[in-house]
Amino acid sequence: MSANRQPGFETRAIHAGGAPDPATGARVTPIYQTSSYVFDDADHAASLFNLQTYGYIYTRLTNPTVSALEERLASLEGGRGATCTASGHAAQLVALFPLMTSGDHLIASNRLYGGSITQMGRSFKKFGWEVSFVDVDDPANIAKAATPRTKAVFVESLANPGGVITDLEAVAAEAHKLGVPLIVDNTMATPYLCQPFQHGADLIVHSTTKFLGGHGNSVGGTVIDSGKFDWSANDKFPSLAAPEPAYHGLNFHETFGDLAYTVYGHAVSLRDLGPAMAPMNAFLTMTGIETLALRMERHCANAQKVAEFLANHPSVAWVNYAGLPSNKYHGLAKRYLPKGAGSVFTFGVKGGYAAGVKMVESIELISHLANIGDVRSLMLHPASTTHRQLTEEQRKNAGAGDDVLRLSVGLESIDDIIADLDQALKLSAG
Ligand SMILES: *Cc1c(COP(=O)(O)O)cnc(C)c1O
Repeated sequence: MSANRQPGFETRAIHAGGAPDPATGARVTPIYQTSSYVFDDADHAASLFNLQTYGYIYTRLTNPTVSALEERLASLEGGRGATCTASGHAAQLVALFPLMTSGDHLIASNRLYGGSITQMGRSFKKFGWEVSFVDVDDPANIAKAATPRTKAVFVESLANPGGVITDLEAVAAEAHKLGVPLIVDNTMATPYLCQPFQHGADLIVHSTTKFLGGHGNSVGGTVIDSGKFDWSANDKFPSLAAPEPAYHGLNFHETFGDLAYTVYGHAVSLRDLGPAMAPMNAFLTMTGIETLALRMERHCANAQKVAEFLANHPSVAWVNYAGLPSNKYHGLAKRYLPKGAGSVFTFGVKGGYAAGVKMVESIELISHLANIGDVRSLMLHPASTTHRQLTEEQRKNAGAGDDVLRLSVGLESIDDIIADLDQALKLSAG
């Protein structure tokens, strides 16, 4: 390929980070199932520990299979570098760790995935990290919630599960006015449908567990840095732009330039917090990504057909899918997700809680479980599972009212998916 031609998305999904193995010529990146790596001599070991030589020390920090996946993910998002983690939730911790210290503050969308609301609102609080959840449909709410200790703004491009789409450019402008980065969880959209760095995002996180891996066989996460945020523009980010006591006084931004955040992610965050991705999971995720473009196309096409079927079904009260022209977020979907609005959405059944429970008990092809982004079609009734500890009012506010069902439309034959929904809707209405 000529040097001045940027290969297309599908090509990078297959080839980025996937050069033949230098030791054996193996065409597929091998699973380097090792915890540690032999040093050439004491000088080599010292220069590795001083971050003066690039190489491998211990798999908690870096591993060749995981590095290959990191290169692929950075390429697909158009970023400078990536740090892979044991899960999507670990990615959120590793994304914030270089930015936050005790007493610092984060502004997050109040429509985040429920697990993220709990992680940030409850567990991060124990680190002394404060969070304000705001409605980013009005981006002015960001400035209203800001404090002098605000260090980042965190949103989802396409929110799980309500079909909510964030106006990334407006939100990025608000974050940048505060002198802080915009972090976008791009899990539900994937880089195939949405490219947050082209709309002002500075950092991207993913649960690779979902569409990137795509086959429901490995939990993982990643943090990707655009390399564009200037950590030295103000004094808000001393871990990156001042001598870091956690790494013998190294100034990461001065030393590593636009790779500072990614080097910090491995050398400090993974080293000290420990949530490294397993090499086997990196291998499965890389294999999954090779078909991402094809899978997302079909996921979106199937979801569109299922949403239209449900919208016209007499037992269905409402459908919340941004691919439908009547949806509130349809305009934003066309702007930020021009190839499709994803394949996870919610709908309501007539008959409330009892009909919702009957529905998940009646599906046969579709699996009743708590995951999304699998080749298999999946369904969940949040009110009787993930949100059952909440009151009816709290469930309603969280978009998990009694009649709500969440569907992740898979890649089975579309007629079979629709037939399964049809027979289950007949039983649940009975
Ligand atoms: C699943 C999910 C997460 C958490 O990821 P895990 O891999 O389960 O830890 C975070 N954000 C979104 C949008 C998700 O769907």
